[in-house]
Amino acid sequence: MKRIDIDHAEGRSRRIDTPGHHPEREAQPRGAIRRGKRPIDHAEAAERFLAAPDHLAFHDQRLWDLRQKRDREAFAIPEWEELRDLASSIKDYALANLDTLLEEFERNAQANGITVHWARDGAEHNRIVVEIMRRHDAPLLVKSKSMLTEECGFRDHMQEQGLAVIETDLGERIQQLDNEDPSHVVVPAVHKLRADVAAVFAKTLGTDPDNHDPAYLAEQQRESNRPLILGAGVGMTGANFLVAETGTVVVCTNEGNADLSANVPPVHIVSAGIEKIIPRAGDLGVFIRLLSRSALGSPITQYTSHFRGPRLGAEMHVILVDNGRSARLGMQQFRSALKCIRCGACMNTCPVYRRSGGLSYGATYAGPIGLIIDPTIDQRKYSALPYASTLNGSCTAVCPVKIDIHQQIHAWRGIMAEQKEPSRTKRTAMKAAALLLAHPSAYRVAVRTVGTVLPHMPRFAVYNPLNAWGRGREVPNAPRRTFHDWYKANRT
Ligand code: SF4
Repeated sequence: MKRIDIDHAEGRSRRIDTPGHHPEREAQPRGAIRRGKRPIDHAEAAERFLAAPDHLAFHDQRLWDLRQKRDREAFAIPEWEELRDLASSIKDYALANLDTLLEEFERNAQANGITVHWARDGAEHNRIVVEIMRRHDAPLLVKSKSMLTEECGFRDHMQEQGLAVIETDLGERIQQLDNEDPSHVVVPAVHKLRADVAAVFAKTLGTDPDNHDPAYLAEQQRESNRPLILGAGVGMTGANFLVAETGTVVVCTNEGNADLSANVPPVHIVSAGIEKIIPRAGDLGVFIRLLSRSALGSPITQYTSHFRGPRLGAEMHVILVDNGRSARLGMQQFRSALKCIRCGACMNTCPVYRRSGGLSYGATYAGPIGLIIDPTIDQRKYSALPYASTLNGSCTAVCPVKIDIHQQIHAWRGIMAEQKEPSRTKRTAMKAAALLLAHPSAYRVAVRTVGTVLPHMPRFAVYNPLNAWGRGREVPNAPRRTFHDWYKANRT
């Protein structure tokens, strides 16, 4: 049968063929179960996602489409690799001079009439926002999507304080109404089918549960949100870039919702991680050219807004948030993860992410970049995440700021292995492998024997409960001759 998916980021729909499946009847798989500080079981949540064929097929194809569009856009620019090099070195420079650049930003922003606050962690960030809202007697804040506020547990805190927060990004609003976190940094509700969205809206906004038309659903959301935006006392946006030279905040969105959040209410609060700093306005072009092409495979973001000061009669605040970033800066192996511009390209290309869904990671950041960042936030809780990767290096290949993502994931595995004794089965297997690899002639005989015997073995002998690896994979057919034989025959 045919189905239509909503392209949340681009506001248009496209048909995807899924023979034999009925998406409307399949329950939406939920994400990882969080149990306080206990380690997140990514594998268990991934298995549940894999057991939902319609969601799995849609998610995989939707993100792979984005990856392919990204490739087409990237290959159309001859200087693409130079842009990546440039972006990477600008970010390296910014990280090496973070303190002075942030002070320069603060000076220039203040000179433009912006109030600058510094927050050590999420709690401090939330306190500052509550203070501003109380001062303005504003019970409602409208917000443009921001991953940083997810890090800070912002919405829950505001609820505890009796203050309302309304998301204005369509995908983020869907997630808010469904009481879920965003599953992707750019397309927060990408794991949902249109039937899931229709069900959420019917329950929370009173829309027609049988109308799955994307245009209808988007319009219903818009109509329910507009009066709230018009009545809000405070608007909040994130920041894609902070320009030190001019004290400017730059925000990129495809729906224009950041402009509404920033320009309609009388107070505008910007929540920005300290790593968003770039030195000069002239550097912006490099990142703007890379960002949307890497994220959605589109040549430009629909709205790139520059906020340089408050509107006449209005207030503007910027909260510069650390929340563990300084500590990460001191972690030599993982500091370059701070260069991330949150384009999501590494997620779109990752085979594990595409087949397990962002919520299976049970963390603010999912996918390859999440595997690096999350353990820096809580090493025990996210100890299983570095294993949610094939280490194929595709993430590193697409990253616009050239973060060596798969190498850092591998480095985390080393740290986890040092701290946690592997299971006895794994230890025995490793010892046997070490013995074999230390004896080349025995290794060659073993490779040849396995290649000949494996195809004739009964299935239960290979795929049984002892072989956890085989639960989700098929052993590929062995080539007819080994590399060693080929090398011997072709060596000149
Ligand atoms: S790590 Fe690179 S590819 Fe992944 S989201 Fe960040 S900038 Fe994009």
